[in-house]
Amino acid sequence: MTSPRPDLAELELQELEAALDARGVERFHARQLYRWIYRRGVTDFDRMTDLSRDLRARLQTEFDVSTPRIVSDERSIDGTRKFVLELSDARRIESVFIPDTPSMTFCISTQVGCAMACGFCLTGKMGLVRNLTAGEIAGQVRVLASATGLLDFPFNIVLMGMGEPLHNYDPTMKALRMLHSEYGLAMSPRRITLSTVGIVPGLERLAREPLMPNLAVSLHATTDEQRTALVPPNRKYPLADILEACRRFPLKKRSRITFEYVMLDEVNDTPEDARRLVRLLSGIKAKVNLIPLNPAPGIPYGRPSDARVDRFAQILADRYITVSVRKSRGQDIRAACGQLIVEGGTKKSAAQQMALLLR
Ligand code: SAH
Repeated sequence: MTSPRPDLAELELQELEAALDARGVERFHARQLYRWIYRRGVTDFDRMTDLSRDLRARLQTEFDVSTPRIVSDERSIDGTRKFVLELSDARRIESVFIPDTPSMTFCISTQVGCAMACGFCLTGKMGLVRNLTAGEIAGQVRVLASATGLLDFPFNIVLMGMGEPLHNYDPTMKALRMLHSEYGLAMSPRRITLSTVGIVPGLERLAREPLMPNLAVSLHATTDEQRTALVPPNRKYPLADILEACRRFPLKKRSRITFEYVMLDEVNDTPEDARRLVRLLSGIKAKVNLIPLNPAPGIPYGRPSDARVDRFAQILADRYITVSVRKSRGQDIRAACGQLIVEGGTKKSAAQQMALLLR
């Protein structure tokens, strides 16, 4: 049996140079390939017109460039677009384009499903199906940038789709390096935000990364008892440990850690919760992003009234904590936070689809 052809979509620039070198092809072609694949969105070697015919023919026989395939592209009335993407093993993930927030943002997945099992999140109900590869993570950005016509424009990335990025650490960081390459999309890490439930060893590794994205921590509760009930990994990594890792986290000038807080009606949205949150965050350069729950069938919580959200936000603001309330985008197409789950055709329910995925 012949071994599979190397997949250029999985290679960092230096790895691509080495792969070409090993085949007697000049290394500088790696930069040209990166430009075609990332900056121009072209993966068909035949269309790479600054490469010689001979080289194109060789690349064609010796390499692959796999790219997630768009299965559906739904538009919300607010302009949000939800893409269902199919991977080479036919697994599916979702990625979301959110226009104007304040700039263009792609919300990218890092796993098929998620092992964290947060009590209010639909993706958590799927369980973990598998990790995404670096090429699949970066590939979502290539696909969305092409599909939205944004290859030549600035955009932001949030790792807030399906999955827990620090539970798939190496591929996630490798994908960020691929997107950062100056011959590709040249993305600044300031335009990338990694959101995590707070896996402490992962936070400690992240603190030492040369290429450091902005950090968002999904907090959601102010006591260990309540947080463990809502975010099960809290049993292993309790609040004090997460906040200690945040205190030690190196921040660039003017930057802050974002704490996300999903608001569940009459569960974690009381004035006492808000006051406890203020105390927990003392000594941390923090801002708080309140996310009123996006309700969904099978999720046993409700969305608080605007008045409850405002009262909570006011308590934080009165203690000089920067606070914002996340607008829910794309709810009509189930593209909002916590609503990403791969659903089949309209006849299959989410639960049926989950059962299929988990077989
Ligand atoms: N695993 C990472 C990345 C997923 S981000 C993390 O948890 O941070 C997804 C964000 O949406 C998280 O802050 C998550 O808590 C939030 N979220 C999940 N379900 C939600 C729901 N039903 N309504 C609103 N926000 C939700």
